[in-house]
Amino acid sequence: MINIIEKNAPIKDNLSYQYPIVETFHSVQGEGFYAGVNAYFIRLAGCDVFCPWCDQKETWSTKKYPLHSVEKIVNQIKQINTNIIIITGGEPLLHDLKPLTLELKKTGKNIHLETSGAHPFSGIFDWVTFSPKPYKKPHESIYNHASELKVVISQEKDFIWALSEAKKVPSHTIKYLQPEWNSPDTQDLIFNYIKENPQWRLSLQTHKYLGVR
Ligand code: SF4
Repeated sequence: MINIIEKNAPIKDNLSYQYPIVETFHSVQGEGFYAGVNAYFIRLAGCDVFCPWCDQKETWSTKKYPLHSVEKIVNQIKQINTNIIIITGGEPLLHDLKPLTLELKKTGKNIHLETSGAHPFSGIFDWVTFSPKPYKKPHESIYNHASELKVVISQEKDFIWALSEAKKVPSHTIKYLQPEWNSPDTQDLIFNYIKENPQWRLSLQTHKYLGVR
């Protein structure tokens, strides 16, 4: 188990709860429904999904990243001119997200999660981007929380995976297919698939096209 903070441990004080942080940064969301929107990102360390094409492999281990208290994270955010806080990773659900999200909600900002759903759901969110990966299947608790389903397509058989996951999310969940950045051939496949299957939308990693993070 990678996470260093045990889930379901008694929480005495949300503000002193700590998380391993890879980075925090103010940017523009590049993907999915909120693409183009001003947002502040909190990238948590730790992932045990191990996607072969992962562009965040340096986040997989928690060991080299400092622990930050919820109090420190929230105080930083108060200075930032944004309405959206995005908790990403790594795989954020390795950690109990309740202490962090309870305190972040008090700032009045909207709290988003980006997750593969590979671990039990925790926390309070205004928007959940669910990006399931076949390399470690999602925990059942994620499906009803999915605001958008975003399936990365790196090869043709990923469409079968996308279809099977789409059957498990609520009907209101917005469904996206996103080409894996290093597999440009999938762009044409997705384009043609969406023409045949209009319930799906195209998501592009616009920050990569722009060369920003
Ligand atoms: S779930 Fe995300 S962080 Fe983890 S290996 Fe896959 S792409 Fe990388």
